[in-house]
Amino acid sequence: MLVIGGGPVGLMCALEAKRMGVNDLRLVDKATKQMEICKASTVWPRTLELLKYAHPAVYTDMKDYANKVAILSIYRGKAKENKTELMAKIDLEGRFNSEVETAFCLEQFMTERFLSTDLEKRFGISIERGVAVKHFQDMGSYVRVELHDAINDVVEIVHTKYLVGCDGAHSFTRKNLNLHYPGEAFNKVFVIAHCKIDGLQFDNKQIWTVLNEDGIAFAAPMPNDTWELIFDLSPEQAKVFFGSDKPRDPTITELNRLIMDRVPGTPANAMHSPLWLGHFRIHSRQVERYSVGRVFMCGDACHIHSPAGGQGMNFGMQDACNIGWKLGLVLRGTTSSHLLNSYHLERWPVGRLLVLGTETQSKIIFDPNPIVRQMQFLLLPIVGNHASALASKAAPVIGETIYSYRNSPLSVEHWCFESLSYAFSNLFLRFDPERVLQRRRTGITRFITNRLCAGDRIPDAALSSSFGKEIDNIPRSKQRIAEQRTSKFRLLFGGENPDVADSEDVGNDVSIRTIHSLCSEAKLTALLFEAAPGYGDSSFGHGGQETDLKQVAWKLETLTDGLIKAHVIGCGERNTQRAFNVVGQCMYLVRPDGYVAFRSQPVDINMIIRYLQSTMGVKIPMLQEDNMALEDGLSSSHESDLTTVIRMLGLVSVLLTSNIVMTWYTSNA
Ligand SMILES: Cc1cc2nc3c(=O)[nH]c(=O)nc-3n(C[C@H](O)[C@H](O)[C@H](O)COP(=O)(O)OP(=O)(O)OC[C@H]3O[C@@H](n4cnc5c(N)ncnc54)[C@H](O)[C@@H]3O)c2cc1C
Repeated sequence: MLVIGGGPVGLMCALEAKRMGVNDLRLVDKATKQMEICKASTVWPRTLELLKYAHPAVYTDMKDYANKVAILSIYRGKAKENKTELMAKIDLEGRFNSEVETAFCLEQFMTERFLSTDLEKRFGISIERGVAVKHFQDMGSYVRVELHDAINDVVEIVHTKYLVGCDGAHSFTRKNLNLHYPGEAFNKVFVIAHCKIDGLQFDNKQIWTVLNEDGIAFAAPMPNDTWELIFDLSPEQAKVFFGSDKPRDPTITELNRLIMDRVPGTPANAMHSPLWLGHFRIHSRQVERYSVGRVFMCGDACHIHSPAGGQGMNFGMQDACNIGWKLGLVLRGTTSSHLLNSYHLERWPVGRLLVLGTETQSKIIFDPNPIVRQMQFLLLPIVGNHASALASKAAPVIGETIYSYRNSPLSVEHWCFESLSYAFSNLFLRFDPERVLQRRRTGITRFITNRLCAGDRIPDAALSSSFGKEIDNIPRSKQRIAEQRTSKFRLLFGGENPDVADSEDVGNDVSIRTIHSLCSEAKLTALLFEAAPGYGDSSFGHGGQETDLKQVAWKLETLTDGLIKAHVIGCGERNTQRAFNVVGQCMYLVRPDGYVAFRSQPVDINMIIRYLQSTMGVKIPMLQEDNMALEDGLSSSHESDLTTVIRMLGLVSVLLTSNIVMTWYTSNA
């Protein structure tokens, strides 16, 4: 495959595809060297958790270098009094519903550097610099691409199976596909500086915004005591500021004048040692399709919006993760290419939400009429009084942990509430997996949205210290520390034992496993949950339907030739069971990007296999070569017919008994 663009999104795409086992991959960029400009300053928890287990070296490098920030503050500028006044301080720390508790602030070029270093060290792939894509054509079974190497002035024709355009806002890929980029441009101009500031009244543990009647100042605290500062200018202000109709990069002297207006109380010449001074306009656009045939687009090539909220690069990197694992499976020959159709169907709708959200947000922040601004001055201090409630709601949105793919064709559920409906479904539908799968997707369970559904990002939760073999070998004293740490996670993820202190001093040799770490392999993960204690005792549970999950785990791993890694989660893992809303025995099939693909309750191996084959297009060689394995699995459907008869008899007896009780009750009344 060929990736166009060595920005953060192209790099992430290459890393994900290589992690999933793509052999031949090239990454080209027309720029002869990396631009050392700050741009995307904030990396949010969803991106960080994707990096943490799949690309740990990148995560560690970022963690060591970045400034960790979780506070968003909004101030009011009071020019007459030459000061600012705090209106709202929103502390998002630990509220992202993620193991990563803060955002990381670092320059975009450093994020790119960490990504490219890992790509080079782990997979031996470097960005081919100075190489531009000049033309491409989808030939049906491959894409013909014309590359121009500007350094050596050489034209090369390449035939590639798939082309991924991560080539930024002015995307050549998008233009060559003749796709529209509908949306609008804001009429404001923005000036930006990456520099040091002396005598600033705010500490560097907060991302702050100062609202004034005539404009805003926004800043993110960067490593090495620097700041990224952005100011908005209306067309009239821009004319005065630039001394002409044509915007240009500002000087530090001009910005020093501006900051004294926008952040009253800042001393003269506070901004100095600039690393980057620039200007830009904001567009809010989304392309109509994220893919055409064998060509895909990710990042700014398909969506662009205001930097308010710092979402663009994060979202683009998540686009790259989505297409990366799918291309990996297809190119390895594990699945059929129709899996790739889900890329547009999943990423376009969440991209739409993002573009509309940031558009509204930007209009409120940057472009209010004077009455709206006065309302903000009135309302924000009230909001500030309820900052903690607001933080809990806002953090998963800003941290991007809230997005899900519930309406994706890949998100399927096979779920029976209780033996009653299970009995009827068996009786009337017999064994017709396609119908059952379809029925589950559109059935009654879709109304219960406040639960973990197929398509949702899996929650994280700590597993007990006894989970897995590796921890069995550590001495008891260290296991105790591990247990304490587990309790710390319980605290984070809403569990019990709030008294346990933060055990930062725990040695690194004790590895606490969390669900996210279990699901970080470059494969699908089947989490097979045992029923919660006591469930299934009554005749209305799945009583008598207990499946041997170890057997299922073994079958899944064997049948799929290692595509699936299966884990049995015992009923003692209460923390995890609660996070997954587990009551009865069930299975969650997790995609390599950490979203639930398929949920089965009860655990039905036929359904899982059917899902893999018909929905994901997985080629299961053992099943194709001889049908023995499937027949072996299907024997459970004969069992379930027998169970159905027994259950129906049980149901009749329950109905008879209740009838007798009712008759007795009414005659006595
Ligand atoms: C001021 C500012 C602040 C921002 N802050 C944030 C933030 O805090 N958080 C956040 O998430 N986002 C932020 N963003 C957005 C973020 O910078 C972009 O979303 C991000 O750069 C998109 O990455 P990309 O890889 O898609 O594109 P780019 O970074 O634009 O990379 C595209 C690459 O493709 C190459 N290329 C283009 N055409 C060709 C071709 N024909 N052949 C070969 N190579 C080609 C280019 O040389 C370039 O290297 C901010 C943006 C701005 C302007």
